Amino acid sequence: MNGIVAILRDVLGAEQVLDARAAEGRVSSYWDPSPLQARALVRPRSTAEVSKVLRVCHEHGQKIVTHGGLTGCVEGATSDADTVVLSLERMQAIEDIDTVGRTATVQAGVVLQRLQDAVREHGLIFPVDLGARGSCTIGGNVATNAGGINVIRYGMMRARVLGLEAVLADGTVLSSMNRMLKNNAGYDLKQLFIGSEGTLGVVTRVVVRLDEATRSRNSAMVGLASFDHVTGLLRHLQQSLGGNLSAFEVMWGDYFRDVTGAGFHRAPLAREHAYYVMLEVEGANVEIDTPQFMAVMEQALDRGLVADAVIPQSETERRALWEIRENFQPLYRRQPIFLYDVSLPIREMEAYVAEVQARLRKRWPESRCDVIGHIGDGNLHFFVTPGCEGEHQHAQSDEDVYAPLKPIGGSVSAEHGIGTEKRPHLGISRSAEEIALMRTLKCTLDPKNLLNPGKVL
Ligand SMILES: Cc1cc2nc3c(=O)[nH]c(=O)nc-3n(C[C@H](O)[C@H](O)[C@H](O)COP(=O)(O)OP(=O)(O)OC[C@H]3O[C@@H](n4cnc5c(N)ncnc54)[C@H](O)[C@@H]3O)c2cc1C
Repeated sequence: MNGIVAILRDVLGAEQVLDARAAEGRVSSYWDPSPLQARALVRPRSTAEVSKVLRVCHEHGQKIVTHGGLTGCVEGATSDADTVVLSLERMQAIEDIDTVGRTATVQAGVVLQRLQDAVREHGLIFPVDLGARGSCTIGGNVATNAGGINVIRYGMMRARVLGLEAVLADGTVLSSMNRMLKNNAGYDLKQLFIGSEGTLGVVTRVVVRLDEATRSRNSAMVGLASFDHVTGLLRHLQQSLGGNLSAFEVMWGDYFRDVTGAGFHRAPLAREHAYYVMLEVEGANVEIDTPQFMAVMEQALDRGLVADAVIPQSETERRALWEIRENFQPLYRRQPIFLYDVSLPIREMEAYVAEVQARLRKRWPESRCDVIGHIGDGNLHFFVTPGCEGEHQHAQSDEDVYAPLKPIGGSVSAEHGIGTEKRPHLGISRSAEEIALMRTLKCTLDPKNLLNPGKVL
C-alpha cells in the first residue's frame, strides 16, 4: 500500500501527486483549519486521468475522497492518513457556452462564481447561487445537490443539470453529456450522482442549463411583526409578481440582532422586529418592473404585512443588505456552535422553531439558537450555541433539533447533504427500505467500498 504514491506518480506524473507531507500544508476544509490528512493528494487534469487514478486505486483496494472547493457543511470530504484525496482543482475548463441552446459545458472543478461571471458576458445566467460561490465548485454543487438563495424561482442543482460525466470506482467512464431538456430514453442515470456526495462516482464534467439574464432587479429588506406576516408577504409577492420573485430569505429577529450592532454589520432597520426578510424580484423590463415592485411593496405596507422596509439605492447598498443574511461570521465568536439545515412544511415552521428553542433552553438556560431560512423552499438553518461547557453537547443539540422533526415529516438535510455529520440521523428522514436500496446501489457501483467510504451510509 505504501507504494501507491509511487504508482500514482508513475501513472500521472510526479508533479500531479503530492505526498502526505505536502498535503499537510493544506487545511482540511473551510470549516476545519487543521492540516489535511492523506496518503497522497492527486490533481488530475482530465476525465481520462481521473479514470487512471480510480483504476489504480481499485486494483490496490485504495480508498479515495474527492475534493471540490471544501465548503461542504457536513464533513463529507473528511479524510485520514490512509486516504488518497482526489482534488478537481486542475479541472477548471469552461469548455462551451451555447447561447442558443442555453447550456454550458464545464469541467467539474470550475468555481461557481467563475461560471456565473462567464455566462453573464453572453447575456445569460447560471442561477444556482450560494454564499460559498467564490470557492465551491460545480462538481461539489452536483455532488451535494446544492440549493441556495434562488431555489424558489430556479430550483436546486438537480433542476439545472442536463448531463454529466462520472468515473466509477473501477475507472469506467460513464459519459452522459446530454444537452436537451427532454430525454426519456431509459433511466436518467445522471440523477444517481446528483446528491450522492462522492460515494457513487467522481463527477468530472457537467452540462448545465442556463437562463436569460434578467434586466431589472429590485430588492428590499423588511421588518415584520409575526410569522403570519412573513407567510402573508410571501403569498402577496407570489400572487402579485408572477414568477419574478427570485429570493425570499427570512431571518428570525434574534439572528438579525446577533449579526448587527457594534463591531458587526450595520443595522439598516430598527432591531426590534420579530422577523426580517431579504427579498429580490427580477424581470425583463426596468420601466415596467420597478414601478410595479414599488406598488406591490406599498400594498404590503398598507395592508400591514410589513412594519418597515429599506430599499437599496445602489449595488453597494444592496450588497451590504445581503451581507447581513450571508455573512454570519459574527455568530461564530461563540463556540462551540452547531449548524443545522432542516426542511419541513412552512405551516409547521413557527411551532417547530418554538419547540426546538424551548428544548434547548430547558437543557441549557444560556443557550442561543439563531434561525434563518429559505422558507419558500421549506428550508431552515439553525445556529445553536449551548452557552456553557459540557460533554456530548453536539449530540444533545442534535436530539433537540431532530426529535420534533420526525412527527411532522421533516428532513434532517434540506440542502447540505448527510456526509458523516448527519449519518446517525438518516433514519429520521428515510425509511429502512429506502436505506436498504441506497446500500444496494452503493454495493453495485462500488463493491469494494472505496469511494468516500463512511459518508452518507
Ligand atoms: C458560507 C457558506 C454558505 C453556504 N451556503 C449554502 C447554501 O445556501 N446552499 C447549499 O446547498 N450549500 C451551501 N453551503 C455548502 C456548500 O457550499 C455546498 O455544499 C457546495 O455545493 C459544496 O461544494 P464544494 O465544491 O465546496 O464541495 P466539497 O465541500 O469539496 O465537497 C462536498 C461533497 O461533495 C463531494 N464532491 C466534491 N466534488 C465532487 C466531484 N467532482 N465528484 C464527486 N463528488 C464530489 C465531496 O467528496 C464531499 O462529499 C455553504 C457553505 C458555506 C461555506
